[in-house]
Amino acid sequence: MDAMKFASRIIAWQRTHGRHQLPWQQTRDPYRVWLSEIMLQQTQVSAVIPYYEKFLARFPDVATLANAPAGDVMAHWAGLGYYARARNLHACAQSVMRDWHGQFPSRAEDLESLPGIGRSTAGAIAAFCAGIRAPILDGNVRRVLSRHFAIDGDPTSAGTIARLWELAQSLLPSQAACRRDPNAMASYTQGLMDLGACVCTRSAPNCIACPLAGSCIARADNRTHELPPPRARRAQPEREVGVLIAIHRGMFLLERRAPKGIWGGLWSLPEFEAELDAPTACDEIGLVAASIQPMASFSHTFTHFRLIIHPWLVHAQSLAAGGAQPVHREWIDANALDRAGMPAPVRKLLSEVIAAGLVEP
Ligand code: SF4
Repeated sequence: MDAMKFASRIIAWQRTHGRHQLPWQQTRDPYRVWLSEIMLQQTQVSAVIPYYEKFLARFPDVATLANAPAGDVMAHWAGLGYYARARNLHACAQSVMRDWHGQFPSRAEDLESLPGIGRSTAGAIAAFCAGIRAPILDGNVRRVLSRHFAIDGDPTSAGTIARLWELAQSLLPSQAACRRDPNAMASYTQGLMDLGACVCTRSAPNCIACPLAGSCIARADNRTHELPPPRARRAQPEREVGVLIAIHRGMFLLERRAPKGIWGGLWSLPEFEAELDAPTACDEIGLVAASIQPMASFSHTFTHFRLIIHPWLVHAQSLAAGGAQPVHREWIDANALDRAGMPAPVRKLLSEVIAAGLVEP
């Protein structure tokens, strides 16, 4: 299939069958488009929508976001995961205000120079907001191209990724098509996204509904189930930590994590090396315990490792807590936890402790 037909089928299909009611689709405002693109990385649309709306209500424009305290930004992101995105979001807003006179650049190359904006995100923002001919290649688009053109190299290898980028570039609507139809790039980009998310899905592609069915090699060769090939699996490393759920008079002892690293900038529980025992961990932060008991361990998977968490419930005798480390700790009322930006697993754990009636009155 030639590039012109590929693009025109995607555009026509998007306009009749694609998604049109997502909250970030009725705008060309780069701030809103950028925010949605960052939130949608590794995250489902249904999970993003409430966060997107809440975030916009608090930070309606790039200047408000740039001037907000980091803790406030993290609190509005808490629960969405991949927290480096929130830190980069804040840094990016500050860069737009400082280096671009408060206006997002329109060219993909300039967008890509901003914190947290990769090539695919830059392409999407440039296409949606300025109609610029720039390709995208997120996970969904990789799957569509890999199947349609039967690309069967390891999808994580540099060679395969370079080949897919070349294809993505070569399939864009032509310059003439974009001159004739100023919305061509927006419809094409959205069409690729919609196709990957709703039709050419990972486990059950709905080829009958696909505008590319007539030219798709994977479909013709009955190979949709084996393309793209699974990425080469590496054994995922594990880390173990203990955490203290310290309670005193209806309050939890929380500490703010360092700005960088996992859960950076969020409120979490005092953490200690798994080899250490909980009483020693209490001593180290000056916590005098009336009782200490273990709770069920659980794990949380990050991109590069699995964290096994061993929680200990500590009823403290007093509010004393500090220790020698330069860590910011606070006792926070169980009824005020909503206002603290917390990673989802920690929030869930504390909710379970509250629901089980383990918090003192
Ligand atoms: S025909 Fe099927 S496998 Fe091929 S791109 Fe369309 S949905 Fe995906």
